[in-house]
Amino acid sequence: MKAIAVTPKQANTVRLVEMDKPKVADIPNGRGVLVEVLRVGACGTDREINNGEYGVAPEGFDFLVLGHENLGRVVETGENVREFKAGDFVVASVRRPGHSIYDLIGEQDMTTDDDYFERGISRLHGYMAEFYAESADWLVKIPPAIVEIAVLLEPLSIIEKGISQAFEIQERMKIWRPKTAAVFGTGTVGLLTSLAFRLRGFEVHAFGKNSRTDYFNADLLEEIGATYDSTTEISVADSVKKYGEYDAIFECTGYSPIAFEAMTALNQNGVLILSSVTGGDRKTEIPADKINQQFVLGNRLMFGTVNANREHFEMGVKDLALSEAMYQGWLKKMLTHKVEGLENFGKVFDILNNAAANKAIKVYFEVNKI
Ligand code: BGC
Repeated sequence: MKAIAVTPKQANTVRLVEMDKPKVADIPNGRGVLVEVLRVGACGTDREINNGEYGVAPEGFDFLVLGHENLGRVVETGENVREFKAGDFVVASVRRPGHSIYDLIGEQDMTTDDDYFERGISRLHGYMAEFYAESADWLVKIPPAIVEIAVLLEPLSIIEKGISQAFEIQERMKIWRPKTAAVFGTGTVGLLTSLAFRLRGFEVHAFGKNSRTDYFNADLLEEIGATYDSTTEISVADSVKKYGEYDAIFECTGYSPIAFEAMTALNQNGVLILSSVTGGDRKTEIPADKINQQFVLGNRLMFGTVNANREHFEMGVKDLALSEAMYQGWLKKMLTHKVEGLENFGKVFDILNNAAANKAIKVYFEVNKI
């Protein structure tokens, strides 16, 4: 079968490779599920891996099959799989258990291992292939009514984890009734985060680099009742004068200095969620005393979040459905660039590398028709 792979840690090696078709029997204990891949999204992580900045090949291979944002259809199941049958739509999670205590209890998204296992990213082949085999334990069923937008479930799962953990941590207060949220970053993750906050009733203020004029992502934000401001036109401090301090802030710009500005924009008892995997070594100067004092005197909170486990994917399924109930057709507008066939990987990476010029939000492969 065809697959799309890179040589990790070497720039621009993305290519088509030929591999054996996986089998249900590849997975132990009769728990195997063979899945025909329908769609695979491409994101900043795939771009960084192809730039040679990130990514590890599986043991015994000198290449890594890319792809972690996935949607597929079950073709065949092992004898101990009761929860899926042929024809079911499924999305697979990304990280697999390593060795830490968190991995052993199914919370591998909280691993303390330095070497982690992520399909399409680190030590395991991904989903940019015609088929994959996986244990039923790592698959989530997709209701047919939301299959058209389900390739967005994996990126949404990251946000579901961040927001739900924020609420869990905020149980440190007896009552926390947040009203406003700021979202820094208005790419795929920023849009999905704004949506997730709107679905929870927040007043949402989103910030990106682009000027408002002729910016489709801003149109989308306004459609769901969020505001959009360009950080080239308004500073974070001025945004606070305009909207007040934020009860929750989600940072997903990929530009680390903004995290420190965001720290100055939190309300008392507020929470700042950091989700950008910033690979560089950028330095910045910050008003350290002021930030520290505000955090102490205002019981403010900041935490980082990565990856997602099964329950976050399940929350994401519900939010995809709720979004269709509240803002019908909105998520589909995020699927701006469909590329048919794995052999057209050059086009996918071209769009990914020039996302702004292409006005691309989500670029994805259609490997097989739904
Ligand atoms: C993926 C996560 C992964 C993270 C770090 C993200 O692009 O969505 O599943 O944990 O990269 O590798």
